This record gives sequence, C-alpha cells and structure tokens, in this order.
Amino acid sequence: MLNLNRDVVVVGAGPSGVTAARELKKAGLTVTVLEARNRVGGRTWTDTVDGAMLEIGGQWVSPDQTALLELLDELKLDTYPRYREGESIYIGADGAPVRYTGDTFPVDPDIAVEMDRLVALLDGLAAEVGASAPWAHPKARELDRRVVGGMQQVSLLQARELGGDIVLNSPVRTVNWEPDADGGHCVTVECDRATVNARFVIMAVPPNLYSRVSFNPPLPRRQHQMHQHQSLGLVIKVHAVYSTPFWRNAGLSGTCFGADALVQEVYDNTNHADPRGTLVGFVSDEKADAVFELGADDRKRAILKSIAGYLGDEALAPEVYYESDWGSEEWTRGAYAASYDLGGLHRYGKDQLAPVGPIYWSSSDPAAEGYQHVDGAIRMGRITAARVAEVAKVAVLAGW
Ligand SMILES: Cc1cc2nc3c(=O)[nH]c(=O)nc-3n(C[C@H](O)[C@H](O)[C@H](O)COP(=O)(O)OP(=O)(O)OC[C@H]3O[C@@H](n4cnc5c(N)ncnc54)[C@H](O)[C@@H]3O)c2cc1C
Repeated sequence: MLNLNRDVVVVGAGPSGVTAARELKKAGLTVTVLEARNRVGGRTWTDTVDGAMLEIGGQWVSPDQTALLELLDELKLDTYPRYREGESIYIGADGAPVRYTGDTFPVDPDIAVEMDRLVALLDGLAAEVGASAPWAHPKARELDRRVVGGMQQVSLLQARELGGDIVLNSPVRTVNWEPDADGGHCVTVECDRATVNARFVIMAVPPNLYSRVSFNPPLPRRQHQMHQHQSLGLVIKVHAVYSTPFWRNAGLSGTCFGADALVQEVYDNTNHADPRGTLVGFVSDEKADAVFELGADDRKRAILKSIAGYLGDEALAPEVYYESDWGSEEWTRGAYAASYDLGGLHRYGKDQLAPVGPIYWSSSDPAAEGYQHVDGAIRMGRITAARVAEVAKVAVLAGW
C-alpha cells in the first residue's frame, strides 16, 4: 500500500487529468494521478485488435480544436486527413442508396431547404448564447483529421513526463477532507493501492461517475442533485478492416449516411500508410439497444448487412471486425460523453464547475469550447490546473 503526500491528487488519467497534472507540475506543485484502469487515455484508446490498429474511442480532430492542435504540435504528433475522394452514399426513406457529391444530402429540394433552415437556426441559437460550437455541425467531420499513431498518444506522451506520478489500477473509493488550521484543507484520497494526503483534489472523470466515490463530508445538496441530471449516451463504434479499401475502386469515398439505417454513418477510417482499408460506422441510441439484444454473431451480421446496404456485398466479409462497447466499460458507462437531461444545463450549468472545498471538476463533459471532445478535455485540464495553482500560490503566500 502506497502512502503519499502531494499538493494535488488528480482522479482519472484521461486527457483532462493528465493535462491538468502536467500543467500543475510545470507550476511547481507536486501531484499524483490515480487511475482506475490499467492504462491512461480514458475514452481515447488506440489498440491493436487481430493485427489491426483501431481507434476504439475518440480519434478525430478538426481545425477549430485549437487547444488539441497546439498540444499535438508540442508533443510532435502529426495528423493526416480522412480519405474523402469520390462520391458519398445517402440512403433516404425509400431505402435505396444514392450517390452524391458535396455537403448537401440528395434529398427532395423542399427537404434540403428545410434542413438548411434548421441548421442555420441552430447555428444562430448557438451563436446567440455565446457558445461557439462548430464541432456540433453535422458536416464538421468533413474537415476532420486523425493523429498518426493514434489519439491515445495525447495522454500516453504527457503521462510519460509524469513518470511515477501516475498510479494505475487504482479506482478512487473515498475522498475525505476537512479545513486545516491555516485556512486551507487537508485531503485524504483512498484507493485500493494508495492513500494520498494532499491539499486539493481534481475529479477528472465524467460526471456520471462522481457518485462512484464517497465524499466525506458528503457533497452539498446542489451537487447531489446536479450530478443526477447528467448521463452518458450510447453509441457502438464499429470497425471493419478489409484487405483493400474496395469502395475506392468504385469511385466512392466511404462516407455514407442513412437516417433510418441501422448504421447511420460510415466513414473511410483507413490508417495512415496502411494498404488495407478500414471502415468505421456508428449505431446509436435505441438502435444500439436493439442490436445488443442479439447474440454477437447475429449482431455482427446485422451491422455488416447495413454497411453493405451502402457499399455493396464486399462489405460483408471483413478480415477484422470489432465493436467498441463503451457502455460495458465500468469506468465510462457509455459513449461519447455526458450531457444534461432536458432543462438540466439551464438549471445547473452555472454551478457545474464550482469547487466544493478543495474539490475541483475537470473533464470534457462540462467544457464550453471543445464540449464532449478531446479538445474540451485539454482545455478543462488547463483551466482547472490554473485555478488550483492560483489558489495554491495564494495559500503559499499566506503561509498555509
Ligand atoms: C466511441 C467514442 C468516440 C469518440 N470520438 C471522438 C472524436 O472523434 N473526437 C473527439 O475529440 N472526442 C471523441 N470522443 C470523446 C473523447 O474521447 C472524450 O471527450 C475525452 O476522452 C474525455 O476526456 P476526459 O479526460 O474528460 O475523460 P475520460 O477520457 O473519460 O477519462 C476519465 C478517466 O477517469 C478514470 N476514472 C473514472 N472513475 C475513476 C475513479 N473512481 N478513480 C480513478 N479513475 C477513475 C477513467 O478510467 C478514465 O481513464 C469519443 C468518445 C468515445 C467513447
């Protein structure tokens, strides 16, 4: 059992937690990161499955995600664009695949006008409330790039700098704290492998998991209520790897959309400099519930049949097939991220980042810019580290 004394304990070694820890170290504070899993990266996870490198979690970066782009630069990580030459496929209400080019779905002109009107309306509303959120645009992925070697490296490379200050396989169970005699706080964080005494705690986990930790004293009423109004969505990210990107020979980009299809979106997700071809698709919400009712073989058949509906029967027989099932991951419980129920943001938003004594909150889920994305996780990590460093500095000057 480790017994450690630090300025700050960070709970969670996802991109937000490791960014916060690295920034705190740069500010001259001592820090330990306690991570439940046996790896860093959280909802970013680059792994090799049956010989194929797959981005099991978050992977795309778009040009407006400047905090992430800046960090990729600093970590000397390159990006490459998604393959998007050729025509895309759209399946409308009649179920027939239609080839098209450009950003507008090949729908009835009246529907196209209505879609444009709704997108403009939503963009206008977003601009009005001051939340610049271009990543929410349905076409944002058209511009997306991937990280050579995988997005998890954003956490892995930062973690390397933290060295022994990260303790894996250590789900935090209890956070105890009390005011100290000098106006600061004494914190004791307990997990299975360590007890850490500190002055501050950063909870760098998605809000749906706060209640997995016992806080002593208990969190205030406002937090107890607020945290019950945030939940993770459900998306199955499906990966299918083929000996060649066969769709390209047919003049197709691999980009496919179908609102009524089981797999509602498909993209060419071929790895950098890989002769094989990889498709990624997404099955969401009630469609995901429905396929999880099936056995694994039937589910695979149904999903591949849906992809073949866009790209032809060659899609039915991938060399490698994998479903990212984040709903089964104890330390995440869904995908992509946490959001408030209807009215929740309006009701609780102003308090979601308010510290409770020495406890601060940092993850992509309550981020403004970069909301629910790796970019937001990094921004939150930096913002939270700066807030803690500021208070810690005041504490030092005051002789705490
Ligand atoms: C399938 C999928 C696809 C996505 N696609 C994209 C994309 O293309 N682009 C993009 O930018 N974003 C994407 N995202 C979102 C992105 O991955 C997340 O926003 C980002 O990883 C959040 O980082 P975080 O550090 O805030 O939280 P997390 O990454 O969730 O990290 C939290 C960490 O805390 C740990 N933890 C939890 N509870 C405890 C505990 N009690 N004690 C100790 N440790 C604990 C967890 O194990 C985890 O490592 C995707 C996510 C998913 C799931």
